[in-house]
Parts: sequence; structure tokens; C-alpha cells
Amino acid sequence: QIFDKSGNIKQDVEEAKSYLEKLDAFDYKFKVGDYFFNKWHFRSLINHYVSLANKGQMKISFKDLLTLLAAKKLDNYADKITEYFELMTAQDFLPNSPTMMNAGGRLGQLSACFVLGMEDGMEQIMKSTSDAALIFKSGGGVGINYSDLREEGDIVASTSGVASGPVSFMNIINTVTEVVKQGGKRRGANMGIIEAWHPDVEKFITNKTEPGVLENFNVSVGIWEDFWHALVNTSDGNYILRSPRDKKPVKEINAHQLIDLIALSAWKSAEPGLIFFDQINKYNVFAKARKAPLRATNPCGEQSLYPYESCNLGSINLVNLVKRQADGTYEFDWQRYEETIRKTTRFLDNIIDVNTYPVPEINVASKESRRIGLGVMGVADLLYKLKIPYNSQEGYELQSKLSEALSYYSMEESVALAKSRGEFPLCSKTEYPEGKIPISGYYERPKESHSCDWDPLIDKIKKHGIRNVLTTTVAPTGTLSMIADCSNGMEPAFALVFEKRVTVGRFFYTNKIVEEALKEHDLYNDEILEKIADNYGSLKGIPEIPQWMQDVYVTAMDIHWADHLMAQGVWQDWIGNAIAKTINMPYDVTAEDVKCAYLLAHELGLKGMTVYRDGSRHKQVLHMTSEN
Ligand code: UDP
Repeated sequence: QIFDKSGNIKQDVEEAKSYLEKLDAFDYKFKVGDYFFNKWHFRSLINHYVSLANKGQMKISFKDLLTLLAAKKLDNYADKITEYFELMTAQDFLPNSPTMMNAGGRLGQLSACFVLGMEDGMEQIMKSTSDAALIFKSGGGVGINYSDLREEGDIVASTSGVASGPVSFMNIINTVTEVVKQGGKRRGANMGIIEAWHPDVEKFITNKTEPGVLENFNVSVGIWEDFWHALVNTSDGNYILRSPRDKKPVKEINAHQLIDLIALSAWKSAEPGLIFFDQINKYNVFAKARKAPLRATNPCGEQSLYPYESCNLGSINLVNLVKRQADGTYEFDWQRYEETIRKTTRFLDNIIDVNTYPVPEINVASKESRRIGLGVMGVADLLYKLKIPYNSQEGYELQSKLSEALSYYSMEESVALAKSRGEFPLCSKTEYPEGKIPISGYYERPKESHSCDWDPLIDKIKKHGIRNVLTTTVAPTGTLSMIADCSNGMEPAFALVFEKRVTVGRFFYTNKIVEEALKEHDLYNDEILEKIADNYGSLKGIPEIPQWMQDVYVTAMDIHWADHLMAQGVWQDWIGNAIAKTINMPYDVTAEDVKCAYLLAHELGLKGMTVYRDGSRHKQVLHMTSEN
């Protein structure tokens, strides 16, 4: 009674809906061809289609949907949809927010990350600007390396004029971002990169220290081996800036002075970040196929991509994967973790095929590499739950094991997918057939410290190929962690208790796990919450709080910046793409400390680095106390 004779939902959707409501009284399964749906999957799908029909957006055919999915030779949809649905509703895993916002909608654009090229010519600049606008409209963030644009003041032959330089072209995209505002759901984010050799690099570094400039941009300086060599291996630190047009020297500078300028600017205003392209390309097995190194990242830096590539991300909520023991303590469920990694790797691979790409070139490049970014969230909450300090030997060991397992099982699943669905189209042209993998820990960590057996996996890749060029990325999970109510990505919690003042009084928001622990130890009352909130959201130094709690429930500000770097390094060792992480520093650090952090970051093999000195931003997004 819900469908007409040809299997479409009845034209009178209200009538169809009323039958659906009547059906609710029964427990039933629904079968279309070989596909079974249980009651609630069926209901939610029908409701979705009914709402689209009501909006006049789509002629609905449930049968067509299933035929479409079957034709794409994706998973047995009915089986898998149950799995995926359960993973998402239990908040064990969430795909990046564009997937959640756009799937089934008219845009159908499901990826969070994009990179566009920026060639030195007016037509190419405007093509990238219009491509960026289409990406913003669909909820994605765009990274662009502007280093190939000739420097300000250089000649423009066709007009006999002078070039306005890359920084001014960034302003165009900044304005486009402002205007488009991503269909009202989330604002476009940009990453603007200039490499250290570009003649406009100093202007670029200091450009954003003033409020209101390039507000829709994160900016980063790209670092290659030559700059690092001048900085750490030469006595004079001499470094030559070259024209992008003909590579001729324009100016000689001192590498130390440049890094000091970057450090001072980051100390003042948290920008620019650094991107270590030398580290990004060290194990870039894809460079051979693309005949070029990676030269750009997405806005938050966790995803390096080639021009026109996109990547869809998804994050596993680690705090959900614990088992309660008989004595009331918790243990991490490694078995469930492995299963979740395998299922969600498949999920993200499927997304590549059902995605609607904003421009045709992105469709082509994304399917050539089939890059996905499976990551995690809730790391800090998991460590709280297991009572292991984030910044301790045990904490790092656990994080390392979590990171290694993520890539290992996800790559293993990607090989299984290659067997059934085929390797990614450019796989044979990469270094995979030679037995190389894009995982630095495999090469740089002593073998006896590995917790997975990588060699058999490498053999399998050589034999069967792999379905996805890279599989893992740790994203910021800004929206996802709010939906799943857990800590962000692999970041420590920012504050354990914060206060909200409203007209009718004061409220305290307390981390769920800390609240549980305080209650268990009879320490939970308004007075103590107020003390913690006034103590920057931290338990440190509060006499009533036992020392073990102060050590375990650490916040971003309790953790030394060197330990933040350490944690990023531990994750980075095993992650194919990169890690979104902020290196938090207290207000009283010096620019010299920031420079020190850069040197340590490079030493640890990080792919990028962002510092945030407390209070240094004009608009601090995360306040410990908010008033309204
Ligand atoms: N991003 C964006 N606009 C935003 C937030 C994020 O374009 O307002 C992009 C950006 O490329 C970022 C990526 O999405 O690096 C992932 O961010 P996050 O993990 O916070 O996304 P979520 O899925 O939680 O919304």
C-alpha cells in the first residue's frame, strides 16, 4: 500500500506515510529482491525519500536506489547498511560532516578536503577561484600552494605592468569564501601556502598579524630540504629567494632570521604554521605515479593532496570501544577496534563512488588515487577512562599502538578490497609494487617495537595491490566530536570544567568521565566545579583533588609543549596522511621557545606544525568561560 505497481512510492506521499505509521505497530522485515531491511532502516529510508518528494526535489524510487547501488558493485547494501547504520547511530564512527550533511541531498558532495593548483596565469588563477567557489558551496575546505605565482612587482609581459603577487590573489579567494558561506552550513576554510624560497615570503608571514586580514585562511610556510639545510647545517645560514617565473635569484636572506620571523609571528598570532614538505614526501610512494611531489595540504593540515584530489574522512570514536571489567575498571577492546577499522575502511571506499564531485577534474583525480582518511576521535577521553596519563610513557605507548593498528588493519582491508574490487587505477605506477609503504614508523621504529607484522602485509600489497593510495588521517573532528560528545581527534581536552553564565545563573559543563570519577570519590559539588573552572578548567594544584587524578585528567594547558609534539610524533609515525594537532603553549613562552618547538617537530618527523600560545588570537574560539 506504500508503493505503486512499479515499486515507486505512491504519488500521494501523505497516504504512503500514513500506511507506514500503521506498519509501526508490527515488527517486520522488508525485502526487495535479495535485500532485507529491518523496520527502522526501512522507516528512515522511506521517510528520507518522502521528505525529498515533499520538497519536490526528487522523483522517488526505492527500487532505483537499490538497483543503482547494486550496479555500482558496492557491498551487499542491505547487509552493510545495517552495519554502517549501527556504527553511526551508536556513535562508534562518524563520516566527516559533509557526508552527513550532503548525502541524499541535491549536492551529494561528501568530502571535507580538497587541494587546487594555482598556476601563474590569469586564466588559471580565475579557474581555480571558480573551482574553489564550487567546493565551498558544497561544504569542503581548500588548500592552495601560491608559490608558483610571480612575486609582487615582477613584470607582466602582456600588459607591460607589474604583478600584484600571491598575497593579493589570496584576498580574492578570501572574499569568495566570505560570499559563498557553504550553503549556510559551514564556512569555507582555506589553507594558503607559500614556500620559503618565494620572494614574497616575508610579506606573507607578517601579513596576517593584523586583525581582519585573510580571515577565512589558515596560512603556512612550506619547508623543503634546502631551507632546513641552510638553517641547521650551514654556519652563515645564507638562503636564496628565487623568482617563480625563471628561478633566478632575487634576494639573499638568512634562514635563521626567516625562522625567527615565523616564530615571532606565530607567537603573536598563532600563524603561520609550518609544513614540512621534505617529511611529507619522504615516504610518498605516490610521487612516482604523479611525477611530482606533494605541495599542498587541506585547511587544517592533516591531509596533503595533489591538485584536484579530494579526500573523505571518517573518525572512529575510541572512547566507545572499551569493555567494563568485573572490578569496574575499563579495558580497550582491540578486537572491536579491528572490526570497526575494517568496516569503516570499506565505508569510506564506498563514499568515493557515491560522491558527487564539484568539478569534473576532481572526479577524475580522486578516483585515480582513491585516497581515504580514516582517523580517530575521543583519544583523551579513552585515556581518562583507562586512567592512563596522556603525557606518560604508558600513554604514548598506547597511542602508538592505536595508531599502528589503525593503519595496519585499514591497509589490510584495502588490500582485501583490491582483491574484490580492484586496486586504485594508478597503483602499478607507484612504489607499492616495489614493496614500499607510506608509513614512516615501519622504517624508522625498531622492528621489535612494532606491534603489527608489516612484512606479510607488504607482500600482499605487492601481489594484489591496494585499493586506496593512503588510508589514514587524524582529523580535528570539530563537528564530529560535538555530535559524538567526545574529545577532539587525538587532542587532550581543553578544559575539564567550564562555566557558562546566563541570565538565570551559572552552569558548569563537566567532562563526563571526570564527572564520574569525582562522583565516585565523593568530590562532586558546585564548590569544587567552580574551583576547577577558575583554575583554567584544570585539576592541577587543587588540594582536595588526589594526585593521581591530577596526573590522569590532564588538559591541553597542563601538558608541556614538548609533550604535545611527542604525542603528534607518536601518531604521525603510523599515519599515512597526517595529524591535525595544535601545539598549545602557555602565555609566557618566548618566540625562542616557538623556534625550539620547530626544531624538535622536524626532528620528530612531523609533517606540519601549528602552535597556539594562550591568549594570542584576536578571537579565541575556545574560551574557558563564556558569557551571554
Ligand atoms: N573544514 C571546512 N570548514 C569547516 C571545518 C572543516 O572546510 O568549517 C574542512 C577542513 O579541510 C578540515 C576538514 O574539513 O581540515 C576536517 O575538519 P573536521 O574534522 O573538523 O570536520 P568535521 O567532519 O568534524 O566537521
